Amino acid sequence: MSGVFSRDFAAEMPLVDHAEGVWIQTVDGQRYLDGMGSAGVIGIGHGRTEIYEALAGQGTKVSYVYTASFTHPWQEELSKSMLSVAPEGMSAVYFVSGGSEANETALKLARQYHVERGEPTRHKMLARWQSYHGVTIATLSLSGRTSWRAPYDPYMLPVVHVSPPYNYRCTICGGEGDCTDHCIEELERTILLEGPETISCFFAETIIGTTASGVTPGPDYYRRVRELCDRYGILFICDEVLMGYGRVGRPFAIEDWGITPDMITCGKAIGSGYAPLGAVIVSEKIAGFFREGRRRFVHGFTYSGHAMSCFVGQKVFEIMKREDLFRRPGRIGAYLHERLGALQQRHEMIGDLRGRGLYAGLEFVADRQSRAPFAPEQQITTRLVSMMRERGVIVGGGVPGANYGKGGDHIQISPPFIITEAEIDTLTGALDEVLTVLGQEPRM
Ligand code: PLP
Repeated sequence: MSGVFSRDFAAEMPLVDHAEGVWIQTVDGQRYLDGMGSAGVIGIGHGRTEIYEALAGQGTKVSYVYTASFTHPWQEELSKSMLSVAPEGMSAVYFVSGGSEANETALKLARQYHVERGEPTRHKMLARWQSYHGVTIATLSLSGRTSWRAPYDPYMLPVVHVSPPYNYRCTICGGEGDCTDHCIEELERTILLEGPETISCFFAETIIGTTASGVTPGPDYYRRVRELCDRYGILFICDEVLMGYGRVGRPFAIEDWGITPDMITCGKAIGSGYAPLGAVIVSEKIAGFFREGRRRFVHGFTYSGHAMSCFVGQKVFEIMKREDLFRRPGRIGAYLHERLGALQQRHEMIGDLRGRGLYAGLEFVADRQSRAPFAPEQQITTRLVSMMRERGVIVGGGVPGANYGKGGDHIQISPPFIITEAEIDTLTGALDEVLTVLGQEPRM
């Protein structure tokens, strides 16, 4: 019996021996292609000895200092590195240990910013349904991931949720438009109904990940979000914990919309799994306000700016730069999407294929014409993920609720940035086999 308090006591977890590149190997010799990049974390690939060699040298010079009293070279260096690839207008980085902490930090910073500016009534937050921002109570209340929220209802934080720009299931434009008009109207109506003077920030995953597998807004959406936020004095915060740092073929996904948010939150790929690391990239508008007013941000985890984590983060950054991994996912991702597009042609049950770069989401439907989802009892996602695993490939099961709580099967593919075309063929080959089996089953 394991002494670990497991997330899922019902499931037997295979014991990992080692991992290298895109492969994970268990102690009994089974190999798995890590098609979900271990929760979208692994960018530079598993088992890069260079990181450990660097740690064995310089990295041990400072393992920990309390960053409320000291700074250290690693966070100084890493902040400069990250800002060098961040959108124009961003000027400071606050380091934490993961994505939930980054989001928690951003919403506190937004709140304090308004309080210091003499706007204490701005205590509400805006976010979207079918989004995921983390597991702490604050970030879960921000999230629109209904199945994970349910056990902890009611929430203490005043978060108001609006519709995601989920084109494939839009009840208004029905997939004919790109959802922008409808979503922007709803956002403005919500701001006006709640009272702009009560709202601190609008929080959005630039491209929605786990909860809706790659829902990507139309080309004008974020420009109009930015305009609304500016008009009503609301801060706009992009959660790029999953989609940022190269995954979509750019350092940050928001670049594709050509606007600068007030903050960008990061996690996952910035440490690439070699150390727990998260960050909030803060615009000069906010950082300058604190710096020039000599204001103190009333916040700080014991492990904020952890020296070893920042050291590892800097090594990850150097590898990303040297191997062009901020851009490569765009190129190799085009091949992944091409292969998945071919599968969509062959398998009627793939209703929608979405995402960018090395993030792809597939939504499954019982009937392509009407977009009717499979009956939840058919457990398509769960069975597909386990059939893929039997074939030695890991893909991520989407969270039910893609169809507004009425089922909605989807999976996500988010491999490490170093995946090759041959490895993509292995992944899509296994998927082809599994879809052939599932596609022949009678619909319930
Ligand atoms: N935000 C997004 C978009 C995520 O995908 C995740 C994790 O999956 C988080 C936040 C939470 O990050 P963490 O699990 O590191 O706390």
